[in-house]
Amino acid sequence: MKLLFLIVAYLVAVTLPLVLSSLVGGPPRQFHQELASGLGILAFSMILVEFILSGRFKTISNGVGLDVTMRFHQIMARTALVFALLHPFLYQGTPSGGPRPWDPTRQLTLTTDFSPLSTGIAAYLLLAGLVVMAIGRTQLGYKYETWRLLHGVGALLIAVLLLHHTVYAGRYGSQPVMTWWWLTMTGVAVGSLLTVYLLVPLRQKARSWRVASVVQLTPKQWELTVEPVGHRGLNYRAGQFVWLNVGHSPFSMKENPFSISSAPAAGPELSFMIKELGDFTRTISQIKTGTVAYLDGPYGNLSVDGRVEPGVALIAGGVGLAPLLGILRQLRLTGDSRKHKLIYGNRVIDQIAYREELGEEGVVYVLSEPPEHWHGEAGFIDGGLVDRVFSEREFSEWAFVMCGPTIMMNIVEDHLIKRGTPSHRILSERFHYD
Ligand SMILES: Cc1cc2nc3c(=O)[nH]c(=O)nc-3n(C[C@H](O)[C@H](O)[C@H](O)COP(=O)(O)OP(=O)(O)OC[C@H]3O[C@@H](n4cnc5c(N)ncnc54)[C@H](O)[C@@H]3O)c2cc1C
Repeated sequence: MKLLFLIVAYLVAVTLPLVLSSLVGGPPRQFHQELASGLGILAFSMILVEFILSGRFKTISNGVGLDVTMRFHQIMARTALVFALLHPFLYQGTPSGGPRPWDPTRQLTLTTDFSPLSTGIAAYLLLAGLVVMAIGRTQLGYKYETWRLLHGVGALLIAVLLLHHTVYAGRYGSQPVMTWWWLTMTGVAVGSLLTVYLLVPLRQKARSWRVASVVQLTPKQWELTVEPVGHRGLNYRAGQFVWLNVGHSPFSMKENPFSISSAPAAGPELSFMIKELGDFTRTISQIKTGTVAYLDGPYGNLSVDGRVEPGVALIAGGVGLAPLLGILRQLRLTGDSRKHKLIYGNRVIDQIAYREELGEEGVVYVLSEPPEHWHGEAGFIDGGLVDRVFSEREFSEWAFVMCGPTIMMNIVEDHLIKRGTPSHRILSERFHYD
């Protein structure tokens, strides 16, 4: 239902300027000229809505999930780029030049005035650059924070340049109704950036946290626990995640998303299970108790709260255990009547975290490189293994919650669907959405 609402809201936001433009009218032109304007209008609209699809707005990302939101953001940016690239070429054959006495509002001619054309061309080149940079982000090898800053500043510049181009070069954009529309929409887009980089940090500053402990779980995995300073903590559902900033100003870009591995029922302290990967996660061991931290959240829809299925299947690969541990802890702490089983896969035995707490009851440990005399499952988490753990009835009635490497989640999801699990009973969180 929420998904349907979001799709309709997106379509309305993106196509409304097209409808409004057609209503403000003007003398009819050839189809290819209208198509050129239409594509330009759509591209600008889509670019402005991209600001809201940044993953930081809970109504959207908590409704459909962060990974879906980000995928949609990426696909729509590429579509907008294609529309924008086609836009100038479709005007071919349209008379251009300075103002004509018979066409004072530029209904039938194209402007060649330098300033509106140059902003259009600059936005055109910047947009192509921004999309290429985003697609090649990992290959280009710059730091995540640098990329995020460049992406934000680039997007802001594109929006402002396009506003100028649309209002001063556009046949429709120069009409007062449309000028107001574009001004308002650009204002909303810029406002969304200000919300993320100014308002949210200000709120975070007033509700700070402090590192309570840092514990090594396995050679490359850590448990970081934070406690609220002078406030009651976070109101969250087991399985959700936050953007965590440890030891930096709340206005800094140095924040990373981490699933909460503690349970709401355990109290206001929040724990995270963090695997070493890059510049922040490799320094967890050096974080001192008492270091100030800021959180933005909770985000995400990986939650079994309020679900009606009689059982919950948890399938974790490596550090993907983090959100599922939060869910398992909450089920256990609240004495939830739903049955549950956990499959927890790793490569080697040293990577298994929280083994004592997880116990053996209802937990299937899987190792792809098991030691001698290993009593658990050996191999990868795949269809065969899932078939050995769950019955036909459980496939059709339980909720399946997964988090782990992309390949594991794809294989398990395909298998569950083959076994008749409806897709609305399969929940997952992806840690990487490139
Ligand atoms: C919803 C979600 C939940 C996650 N939960 C956990 C968890 O519980 N435990 C865990 O170990 N890891 C988790 N991750 C992954 C974790 O965020 C990255 O491993 C971490 O940010 C890497 O940061 P780094 O500075 O060490 O590495 P870097 O080298 O800076 O980044 C490595 C990669 O991590 C991702 N990343 C880094 N910073 C951000 C950011 N601010 N926003 C989005 N992606 C970023 C990017 O894909 C980047 O290429 C989660 C990711 C997401 C999206």
